[in-house]
Amino acid sequence: MDNPSRRHAVDAIAEITTPAPQPPHPAVLTDYGADVFNEEAMRRYLAKSTCEKLLATIERGEALDPAIAGDVAHAMKEWALSRGATSYTHWFQPLTGSTAEKHDSFLEPENCGALFAFSGKNLIMGEPDASSFPSGGLRSTFEARGYTAWDPTSPAFIKRHGNGATLCIPTAFCSYTGDALDKKTPLLRSIQALSGATRRLMKCFGLPDDEKVSVTLGPEQEYFLIDKHFYLQRPDLLQTGRTLFGAPPAKHQQLEDHYFGAIRMRILNFMTEVEQELWKLGIPAKTRHNEVAPAQFELAPVFEELNLACDHNMLVMEILRQTAERHGLVCLLHEKPFAGVNGSGKHNNWSVNYGKRNLLNPGSDPHENAIFLTVLCAIIEAVDRHADLLRAAVTGAGNDHRLGANEAPPAVISMYLGDQLADVIEQLEHGTPTSSRHARAMKIGVDTLPPLPRDATDRNRTSPFAFTGNKFEFRAPGSSHSCSGANITLNVIVAEAFDRMAEVISKFDPEHFHDELQKHLQTLVRAHKRIIFNGDGYTDDWLAEAARRGLPNARSTMDSLRCLLADENVAVFEKYGVFTARELTSRFEVFLEDYHRKIRIEGEVALEIADTMILPAAGREYAEIVRAVAEAEQAGVSAGVSVQRARAERLGAQIEACAKHVQELRDAVGNGKHEDILRTMTELRIAVDALEKSVSDAAWPLPKYHEMLFIY
Ligand code: ADP
Ligand code: MG
Repeated sequence: MDNPSRRHAVDAIAEITTPAPQPPHPAVLTDYGADVFNEEAMRRYLAKSTCEKLLATIERGEALDPAIAGDVAHAMKEWALSRGATSYTHWFQPLTGSTAEKHDSFLEPENCGALFAFSGKNLIMGEPDASSFPSGGLRSTFEARGYTAWDPTSPAFIKRHGNGATLCIPTAFCSYTGDALDKKTPLLRSIQALSGATRRLMKCFGLPDDEKVSVTLGPEQEYFLIDKHFYLQRPDLLQTGRTLFGAPPAKHQQLEDHYFGAIRMRILNFMTEVEQELWKLGIPAKTRHNEVAPAQFELAPVFEELNLACDHNMLVMEILRQTAERHGLVCLLHEKPFAGVNGSGKHNNWSVNYGKRNLLNPGSDPHENAIFLTVLCAIIEAVDRHADLLRAAVTGAGNDHRLGANEAPPAVISMYLGDQLADVIEQLEHGTPTSSRHARAMKIGVDTLPPLPRDATDRNRTSPFAFTGNKFEFRAPGSSHSCSGANITLNVIVAEAFDRMAEVISKFDPEHFHDELQKHLQTLVRAHKRIIFNGDGYTDDWLAEAARRGLPNARSTMDSLRCLLADENVAVFEKYGVFTARELTSRFEVFLEDYHRKIRIEGEVALEIADTMILPAAGREYAEIVRAVAEAEQAGVSAGVSVQRARAERLGAQIEACAKHVQELRDAVGNGKHEDILRTMTELRIAVDALEKSVSDAAWPLPKYHEMLFIY
């Protein structure tokens, strides 16, 4: 046998035994948030007055009093030491899409020894410089050092490793000139923008204009788990996060027997440990289940304030990866690790709240309904006006395999409202009852909405942007993405639509407010209803219909990114102080560069695997058959020879086809044009996958799909 390592992997996995189910012992939640410098820890470690000031900053967004920074730093250090941490780091989110940390210990040498210290200055600001992170040209000048600035609205937390722990302080990352070099800064700016616009809109409805606006997010995280033994034998997974070759197995997800199925013990042990780790960090992991594809799973937390939820999702991804390792598994967060089976997304459940009122909750009286319908129409307008920006916010080399391909959700952004709400909107538009379903048309300020099904069974999973009861679920973000990108865009375009709405309706005659509002919403619905689509988003019919409606359909990263530089889009981001033109251009550059690099790496890895693993294995097999045929002929044996000769011929032809595609890919990688790399890589893949079906199983050099997806 040529390739014993695949067999060994299977044998090793067969040896793994999962512990027997535990005897019952009472479950306790004493650890929840134990590794977070939360309100409880603050009250224990800070003087009352300092604590109140800090809480005011956190809860009401009041500017932090620099005079308390020293006390807060001291308290944080004492708390961290008590939890075993001897180092701290400013934890930030550069444009790589990952998180970054540079550790410093609390250690201060003294005359005769050392002590642990942490100053207010070190808490508030760091100078990691960190010049190697992508900045898209923002840091080309010598003075553009990188600074981190404490974000007190996301509490500090502790990360643990085998023999120690580190205090992590969430921070924004900016250049000396004030340009945002990260994903958190624009997110915070966008929350501020939406808060302001929401207050202005609520004022039009006679509500006080000083309530706290909170944007909430519940990101559902999809992921794959495969056994590490297989992973280590796949240079493509190791270097690109996805399989560049692999024939789909006869059975994958057709039987739909994995989705919501009983979770295997080994996986449950993993999931339980993930939850324990997340709960210690105060991350409210709530839902776990098998997803549609084999070896695919999902984790969903209870929703939180957007900024915190984004930080928490970064930690969720990290803890999924690390815990998987401890269980001999590897967590794949790539959007499309396996061709031919479902990819992974991150459903972005988003809502806006004013005080205690969720603005996407219809409410129970005509006044609340009027607010709800106004907010809804503004969001319809926002999504229709800026579908291109929403698409650009979820772009990337990995997600192209979901959005551009025949998979949920499609690249065309549309909105799903559900039958009942769509009906309400229609009645609103026409001013008359639409069908026999209702006796009369919806009248704003007079009628209440019919109860809308929350989490109803008729939810449309093919829609990229669906109303799901009290929130919108944006399903296009990729599983590996930071939540920031999608929500920055969402916040800004909705802020703009809220302002546009407030501008108009604030001028209405109070006597006839609801009548005039109704007319205005009618106009908006007429102008933007093309974005509403309640049908099946997978079908070719929809793509044709969407084209007729004039909806953008950017199938790839390259198609979708360009809109970032359009004047009207730059103007929106600038107006709300979320991105300057410079910052937006820098994002464009960084995304583009990232895309090119990833495609190039994929091309090189595919080339290497084909050259050094596939072709040699297929060649050996071919030579062996040819030799066997020659020997049989010489010995005058005829039985089975014609079959072997036919096999050799087929294999020979396949090897030649493969070698030809290898050469084409080599040329494409040499020229560096990403379209050519992608095309030749796809062609080579077809040739290699055909070979996989011809070469004897024992000789195939890569773990196969059925092994990775089913043996764990
Ligand atoms: P499904 O898979 O059916 O879409 P899940 O229960 O897995 O639903 O996930 C729904 C997500 O939506 C959860 O993270 C939940 O906390 C979140 N969510 C619920 N209400 C809101 C809201 N008002 N704002 C933001 N997220 C919400
Ligand atoms: Mg969902």
